[in-house]
Amino acid sequence: MPNKVLIISSDSVDAKILDELLSRARDGPFVIEWVMCLSDGLERLAAGGIDIVLMDFSLPDSRGMATFDKLFAVAPRTPIMTLCAPDDESLAVAAVQRGAQGYLTKGHFESYLVPQSLRNIIQRKAVEEIAFIAKARAEVTLNSISDAVIGTDMSGNIDYLNIAAEQMTGWPRAEAHGRPVGEVMKLLHGTTRDPEASPVELVLKKDSPMGMAAGTILIRRDGSEVAIEDSAAPIHNSNGKITGAVVVFHDITAAQAMVAKMAHLAQHDSLTNLPNRMLLNDRISQAITSAERRTTHLAVLFLDLDNFKHINDSLGHGVGDELLKSVAGRLSSCVRHSDTVSRQGGDEFVVLLSDGKSVQDVGLTADKILTALAVPYCIAEHELHVTASIGISGYPDDAGDAETLIKNADTAMYQAKEKGRNTYQFFKSEMNDRAVERQIIESNMRHALERQEFVLHYQPKVNLQTGRITGAEALLRWLHPERGMLLPGHFVPIAEDCGLIVPIDRWVLREACAQTKRWQDAGLKPGSIAVNVSALEFRRPDFVANVRAALAETGLKPECLQLEITESVLMRDASSSTEILQQLKTLGVELAVDDFGTGYSSLSYLTQFPVDVLKIDQSFVQSIDVATGNSIIVTAIIAMGTSLKQRVIAEGVEDQVQLAHLKMLHCEEGQGYLFSRPLDAKRFAILLRTGLARIAAKVTSPKGGQTPMTGDAAIVSSPGAMTLSGE
Ligand code: C2E
Ligand code: MG
Ligand code: MG
Repeated sequence: MPNKVLIISSDSVDAKILDELLSRARDGPFVIEWVMCLSDGLERLAAGGIDIVLMDFSLPDSRGMATFDKLFAVAPRTPIMTLCAPDDESLAVAAVQRGAQGYLTKGHFESYLVPQSLRNIIQRKAVEEIAFIAKARAEVTLNSISDAVIGTDMSGNIDYLNIAAEQMTGWPRAEAHGRPVGEVMKLLHGTTRDPEASPVELVLKKDSPMGMAAGTILIRRDGSEVAIEDSAAPIHNSNGKITGAVVVFHDITAAQAMVAKMAHLAQHDSLTNLPNRMLLNDRISQAITSAERRTTHLAVLFLDLDNFKHINDSLGHGVGDELLKSVAGRLSSCVRHSDTVSRQGGDEFVVLLSDGKSVQDVGLTADKILTALAVPYCIAEHELHVTASIGISGYPDDAGDAETLIKNADTAMYQAKEKGRNTYQFFKSEMNDRAVERQIIESNMRHALERQEFVLHYQPKVNLQTGRITGAEALLRWLHPERGMLLPGHFVPIAEDCGLIVPIDRWVLREACAQTKRWQDAGLKPGSIAVNVSALEFRRPDFVANVRAALAETGLKPECLQLEITESVLMRDASSSTEILQQLKTLGVELAVDDFGTGYSSLSYLTQFPVDVLKIDQSFVQSIDVATGNSIIVTAIIAMGTSLKQRVIAEGVEDQVQLAHLKMLHCEEGQGYLFSRPLDAKRFAILLRTGLARIAAKVTSPKGGQTPMTGDAAIVSSPGAMTLSGE
């Protein structure tokens, strides 16, 4: 694009000469515009697009320096050349001092150099403009970033500071300017706190960029400190020669805090803030190394809360979480500072006792923990009772590494659970075999439902006065493909621990209801079917709905279903138990307290529970003295049941002495091998059809008791009838 020249002159001769000269320029013509007075010139300039102005000082509407000043004010970034008379050069020189790019002396315009110098001026102005914009952009950028930037000259004296640097050092730009960088940027080593040289000094010396260790401390002007991370680089001129340096740094306090927080989170349990599995493993490994060196020992306690699942399921996770936090606090207060209490997840905790305690001392600590945890918790207005089971393993006797120590302590913990909970057990190597066995059962059980390996056996309940069958209890059996028939004692506790009991119990409920309905439809009178309900199932929020659904699906009348809940389960959270029982009662099903006498019921609760039946635990029935036929407990329970207007069923009736005693005490019903072992559905149907008379005889004629007990066959078979055998 040709350059545009604006000539402002009332001298038409001058204008003409310039016009001709510039239009003929060898390296390309200029486009000339000519105005004769200042006001026209100002107007044209304001419209834009002019690359250079040639102005005469003397115009019809302005004279002298004022002419230049007005033009310059309107277009300070457009180059202006003045045209001056040979005797007036002083005015032109003054104009140059005020911003004019130069002057042309009248009478010397024709020089061939004029077009070229105009072109140079225009180009220089364009380059200046680009530099100006670049500088403005850099300035805006540097002041809007959060990194601090300090520039120095070759001697390390500050010649630039952005706003962030002002804020971070506490030095305003004007005051910092010209000072040595080391004075404004005082640095200390992050860990040793020795004074550190500014990286600028090195950069200037070596002429190469360098980074600096994170965590260097900057001392602000007011003496306060801030952790920074910085880097510095040399600045070169167009010849590649170093002219100074720039150091860039930022505050890493927040980042450092975040890193520390992340590290803490990675190693701690977020709920209790206790060390997690990872940190525990580290601590055990360290403790092993130090025990090895000092030939001492250490112990690992694996702790699992008893019945935590029930609390979580019945009172909600909020309460469960609060409980875990309280447990964490109590655990920590039971051990020394040098020991580690960690949470493994769920309701499992592991304690590392690393100070070489004797076996007795470890036992004492375990006792102390059990005692501390057993004190009732008050959470969200609930008084909660929680106990724990603890397994203990030790280095070097039981294992040589962290993982095995924890695994063995876990195995011992299961033993403590089996020993009745709220106790501790030391690991023994035989326990591993049991643990393996347990695991096999658990993994087999996961497929047992879908492979239809479960069946129900039915054991009749008998009216002790008439001998009539009043109902049956459905008892779960597992037809294990390799091990044959397994009784609940082998797998129900494991199913309870791993939660599998819930789907299993649901299957049992449906199967028992469906089978009873089929018997009814076939014209048999099975009475009420009793189904055992596990603790886990009983506390599930949808338990009542599930019972309702099972009845609806199978078409069994609610009064034909009896739910057996053990006394200990009911007592665990008596007030919520009452509520659940009430809802079941509204459904119309019968309710029985199973294993009655073993759960330490308080009488006040017993009267409050809307139950229909008490099942005396078989241990009491079997404690009836063979010689005298006496049992204080059975007598007391029957008396109590009668006064509470609850039916009493004696479980585990095995012989005539027991039967006679129970009859004497007016116990209404009984269940036991004396009448029949549990039978599969087919045999139970036969019993319903044919065995009634036989059982009735047993009950009514004491002579029946003389028959040697040879299992179900002896009871339900009669001469000529088919032989039945129970389990
Ligand atoms: P339980 O509910 O107290 O059941 C009575 C247990 O006593 C049954 O054991 C039964 O076979 C046994 N028994 C009956 N008569 C006599 C007798 O005269 N002498 C002796 N010594 N024992 C007798 P089983 O079938 O091994 O069941 C044991 C426990 O397993 C049951 O105790 C119950 O708590 C649980 N269980 C059984 N089936 C289920 C089920 O479907 N779900 C759940 N959650 N638990 C079940
Ligand atoms: Mg039962
Ligand atoms: Mg029982």
